[in-house]
Amino acid sequence: MKTSNELRSLLTSIDHKGYPTYKTLSGCYQFPSYQLYIDHVQGDPFASPSSLHVEISHKAAGFPSSYYIEDCSRIALQDYLTRCLSIQFEDFNFKAKGSGKSGLLSISRCGQEVLERSACQITHDKIIARFHVGFPAFGRTINAKELEKILFDFLPYCIEHSFFYQNLDDKKIQEAVYLAEDQNFIREYLKKEHLCAFIANGSILPRKSGVSDLPLKNSVPFFSPASMERTLLLPHRGEITGMVIPHGITLIVGGGYHGKSTLLEALQMGVYNHIIGDGREYVITDDTAVKLRAEDGRSIRNVDISLFINDLPNKKDTTCFFTPDASGSTSQAAGVIESIEAESKLFLIDEDTSATNFMLRDDFMQQVISREKEPITPFLERARDLYEQAGISTILVAGSSGAFFHIADSIIQMDSYRPVDITEKVKKLCLEHTAPRTRIPGFLIPDFQRTLPCRKQSEPRHLKDRNGGYRTNSDKRHEHMKIKTFGKDSFALDKETVDLRYLEQLTDSEQTNALAHLLRYGLEQVIDEKNTVKHIVESIYDLLEKKGWEPFCGSYVPCGLAKPRKEELFASLNRFRG
Ligand code: ADP
Ligand code: MG
Repeated sequence: MKTSNELRSLLTSIDHKGYPTYKTLSGCYQFPSYQLYIDHVQGDPFASPSSLHVEISHKAAGFPSSYYIEDCSRIALQDYLTRCLSIQFEDFNFKAKGSGKSGLLSISRCGQEVLERSACQITHDKIIARFHVGFPAFGRTINAKELEKILFDFLPYCIEHSFFYQNLDDKKIQEAVYLAEDQNFIREYLKKEHLCAFIANGSILPRKSGVSDLPLKNSVPFFSPASMERTLLLPHRGEITGMVIPHGITLIVGGGYHGKSTLLEALQMGVYNHIIGDGREYVITDDTAVKLRAEDGRSIRNVDISLFINDLPNKKDTTCFFTPDASGSTSQAAGVIESIEAESKLFLIDEDTSATNFMLRDDFMQQVISREKEPITPFLERARDLYEQAGISTILVAGSSGAFFHIADSIIQMDSYRPVDITEKVKKLCLEHTAPRTRIPGFLIPDFQRTLPCRKQSEPRHLKDRNGGYRTNSDKRHEHMKIKTFGKDSFALDKETVDLRYLEQLTDSEQTNALAHLLRYGLEQVIDEKNTVKHIVESIYDLLEKKGWEPFCGSYVPCGLAKPRKEELFASLNRFRG
């Protein structure tokens, strides 16, 4: 390791040289209270900015270990510190001048959810912070004086005011950490008590707009109907009262515009913890919940959808179904089966985004179109078995058909954004309205031994040398699939695009980026004709949990990765067209 003084002399020696000479700075430097690593230097001032990281020992940083011993508190602290550095960087961003991205200083932009990011990692002995710096240039030559300003003035100031406990507001840190511990308590409580979700009284569910995740101002706070209310004793906050949704089938009904979808959307994001002030801090949902929806045009590979679809007119086998372009109903059927495979215990479905013919078929239609002529066994007729035989609960928004009343355990009416428990009332009415007659094929869950057909790699890909370099043609053998991400919506591995637009629970473009890295690793290292889909996903995810980002990244871990859920990794693999 070199000293920071050596870095200063190096800078002086390369001033005004050609921009690529900046590459000689790669390496590790000891600063008074932390180590600075220059991991990757950009090729020119207009390219993606350079990747750097700092490591600060706990001894220097000084946070009480109780703030990072437990996973949930550690993740909250990491998130808090990332936000701190991001705020610090705002004051110095582009303060050093030059062409292109000269002077850029950036770290992940965190949203309303608390995610585990590569931007900040707390290990047993240190804090690691990863970020980007635009190395300054005059035109295309090195402006070392400006970089010196960044590395010796701006950065030390930002680091000291973000990662040194004595310079931070302990009350705020404690608030964030305690909130995470309370949220974790509710998650554990849900598991113990066989509940799908908890929504605290006073929660603010609606969001500001379709493009802003901030809480909607002046909205009607959520309050539980008395019959569904429960009071919990949280370790820090103390008593909290709210609505619990039990296992089983829960129906959310009500007139249009009364807040049904808003409630379901809050539940689907309840798989994540939210920051203070979000309004959904205490909206906690079963971690394995999956939002299921129609997704016309998606690819389906080797999925047994025979639970829902049989006897297609083109005689296609639905026990190992393939299509590059699914219909609404087949896409939703595949989504259900894939989610059972991913071991989800809670399905969230909104009629607004479902294929009607997948969800139900009414009595009259059953009389007109005989069972033999209809390939689809609608979800309505499978939901009870899914719960009773496979232990999977459903929360369903269905304002347009009474058919679901017969299969529901709880019925919530949204009335001007207030939930009302109408279970008793409707169950009485059910006695007067007979359930539609049904004769359906037996309930049989696939064995999930399925594998994915894979293209053989013509040349071996090597585990070592994963430096992401694509320099010379002779180097081709060591190349990795090239990753490109398009915001949150999709990513491409080489030329193959994976469309994630309809994964509504994916919440950050850094998760999309991480999924690309995980899937690339899977394709290069794990997937073959023998490994089942379940095995592939589980081994990738286990590796991530045990070893962190390193195995997926090559020579250095970049800023810009956020941990996705296992459910979304399954979903990405299922959407890869191969
Ligand atoms: P539905 O699915 O019942 O038709 P939505 O959930 O889509 O209704 O809500 C309709 C509108 O009402 C949305 O614009 C939403 O932002 C707003 N809204 C939802 N919940 C509330 C609330 N608690 N307070 C104020 N406005 C709300
Ligand atoms: Mg709606």
